[in-house]
This record gives sequence, structure tokens and C-alpha cells, in this order.
Amino acid sequence: MSDILIRNIDTLITMDDDRRELTGVDLRLSGGVVAEIGQGLESGMAETVDARGCVVTPGLVNTHHHLYQSMTRAVPGAQDALLFGWLQKLYPIWAAMGPEEMFVSAQVGLAELALSGCTLSSDHLYLYPNGARLDDTIAAAREIGLRFHPTRGAMSIGESDGGLPPDSLVEREADILNDCIRVIDAHHDASVGAMVRVGIAPCSPFSVSRDLMRDAALLARDKGVMLHTHLAENEEDIAYSLAKFGCRPGQYAEELGWTGPDVWHAHCVKLDGAEIDLFARTRTGVAHCPCSNCRLGSGIAPVRAMRDAGVPVGLGVDGSASNDAGNLIAEARQSMLLQRVQNGADAMSPREALEIATRGGADVLGRPECGRVAVGKRADIAIWDTRGIESAGSWDPAALLLAGPSRVRDLFVEGRQVVSDGQLSTVDLGQLVEKQNRLAKRLAERT
Ligand SMILES: [Zn+2]
Repeated sequence: MSDILIRNIDTLITMDDDRRELTGVDLRLSGGVVAEIGQGLESGMAETVDARGCVVTPGLVNTHHHLYQSMTRAVPGAQDALLFGWLQKLYPIWAAMGPEEMFVSAQVGLAELALSGCTLSSDHLYLYPNGARLDDTIAAAREIGLRFHPTRGAMSIGESDGGLPPDSLVEREADILNDCIRVIDAHHDASVGAMVRVGIAPCSPFSVSRDLMRDAALLARDKGVMLHTHLAENEEDIAYSLAKFGCRPGQYAEELGWTGPDVWHAHCVKLDGAEIDLFARTRTGVAHCPCSNCRLGSGIAPVRAMRDAGVPVGLGVDGSASNDAGNLIAEARQSMLLQRVQNGADAMSPREALEIATRGGADVLGRPECGRVAVGKRADIAIWDTRGIESAGSWDPAALLLAGPSRVRDLFVEGRQVVSDGQLSTVDLGQLVEKQNRLAKRLAERT
């Protein structure tokens, strides 16, 4: 792969350790990393990209998603339901999906993320109907070209055991653990700069047993992979935890080994002060999903308090059945606005929200070599054209989340171009959308 020289950058928001913002600089990408930052760099043999009139940032990091749900956006009957009712409407539809739907839906979700500036995404796949496998989504990510952290999710308590999902969507716990081992051995790459890292992720404390939660934590530590689940999402979630486990979700997590820098929990809307302290003390990460929390009426996560206490916080778009968009830069704007609703206009600046969306997310996923632009860090770069209508009249184009484009002009992952001039350069987007719509229609006819 040839070197890339990004020239004449108006503003480079580095998100490095000093949070430097550099003007009028060039950036050289070589061998998958940022090789050089400076003014008037020699182009040599490098392919050049002109970034005049552009703001350049680290690629955004998405810490929570269910890519398969891109196939079930805006489903009538689930548009206005609360979380549990929403799940009950959608489970039978998801149960009719298979490997092809998983692959195509993941490509759609990842393509949408790429166009909104995302270079690294995790995914939480917790149901495997009709022969679907985690491998289907890994193949999808490889083609789109994003850095990918798929997590092997699971549900084991079905309707007949008093659980929420239909029995056809739950698995035996021994099978779940065996498949976790299989996908880790097949796909997990622990090296710096890895394109795929696998995690273990039972769906939520109310969809698997206490034993599986504990065994999953033991297995993850044995294999050196990360742990992920949904936690403290809404009031129903807290009430369920108190009634069923006799404690709050944070305590349940701690008892079962689900705290630490190798763990991140999605939502955490209802964490109380003691739980925030616990997460800060143990460096347990949080995937904040503001649009989903708004969409499902779950509440406003205490992100200001978490950040002030030192909890690692990243951003997530969550699944497209509860957003229903998958635009990560728009999600970052939403996170900024929501903290202001709760805590006032000075509660979160556009730069801090962007930091959560880049460096914050990379740290939550255990990737300190991503999420910032500095020599030696991975060449995951987003270029935003601020000469368009969204930025016209802006006195501070680097305040992207106040007035800026919602799609990238160019995107590089590990130094490879994934978006070029606003178009996906790896996969034909028109064909992909057509395929997704055809499969969604077939799913609607069958269910
Ligand atoms: Zn979720």
C-alpha cells in the first residue's frame, strides 16, 4: 500500500495527549500508522489528498451496535413501544433472519457508520437464528474495511423459563461458551493495529443465568478478550434487578466479575452515585447511546457525572431498531445536547463530545493506539469538508458538532481509503441498499 499525504489541512483536531489543534498542516500515513505531521511535507512517492477547507479528526469509534437490526428499522408496532414491549414485537421477526440477512445488514450498518466518520466499530450479536454466525458479520466488516470488534452475544433464558425471548432464539449455555471459544480462536487478534478483536457479551443480566455471566467472565480473562453487556438501561431494568437478584445492577456486575478495564457496559442510564464510583475505581467502561435512550424513553445517562468521576465513556449508536439511524457524528451531537438538557448549556462542549466519540471510545475498547492522531498511532482518519452549507457562516469550523457536515468527505482505516469524495470506495452502496430492501421485504412477508 502506498503512502498517503493529506495536505493543507485547515484544522487538525488531534485528540492527542495535549488535545492539540493544528492549522495549515500535512499528515503522512504510512504502513497503517500516522508517520509524520507537519507543514510542507515532501510528497515523494505518496498519493496526495488535498484537505484545503477541511477539518481532520481521528476516525470516530462506535462502542455499541446490533448491526443485524439495520434490517428492521422503523417497524410498525415497535415504533412507539417501551423497551420490553419493543423486544417482544421484534423477536419473532429477528427469529426469521439467517446468515444472508446478518451479512447484508451488517454491511449496511457499517457502511452508514463509515460515511458518518466511524473507523472502528464494535458489534453485539446475541441471536443466531437459522445458522447465522458471528463470522457472517466479520466477513461483512472485512469487505467494508472498518476495524471491527464483534462480540459473541447470547441469550439462554427463553419464554418457557420465564424469560422474554422466544425459545427459538435462546441457546444452551454450554453451546454458547463453546462457540465463544471457537470464534475467539478463529478471529481474535491481540496485536497492536489488529483489524478484528472478539469479545464475549451475554445479552443482558435478564436474558442469561448468573452462572453464564460468571463463566463468561472467567472465559474472557482466560482468553484475554473483553466483556460487554447491557446494564442499567431504564427503570424496568433496575426494578428487575432488585426483584430478581436483590441488588442493583452495579453490585450484580461486581459480584460476577463484570467490572474492570476489560469490561464495558452499554447504556448505564440509571447508574447511581455508588455505581459511578465503582466504575471509576475499577476503570469499567460505558457505551453511551443517547439517541437510543431518547427513542426508547429510557432517560438521560449521567455522562457528566461519569466523566467527572473518571469513568471511561465512549459513544454508541446502538442497534438500528432503536435509533433508527446509525450516524455516529449525529450521535455525538446528540450526546452533547442531552447533557445540556440535564445540566445546562456549559455541561458539555462540542470538543468534549467529539473527544468521547473518538479517543474516549478507543480507550473503552482497549485501543489506545486508535482514536487520536499522533505519530505512531493507527492511520484511522476522517476528513470533513467545512466548505458546505452546514458550516457556512461558522466562526469556528472545528466546532463540528455545532455547525458541520454529518457525512465525511474521505475516510481512512489503517491507511486504506474507505470513503472517497463522500462515496464508499470498497462496496457498491446502491447494490447494497437494493439487496437490504429486498431482504427486509421478504422478512416482512414471512413474519
Ligand atoms: Zn443495545
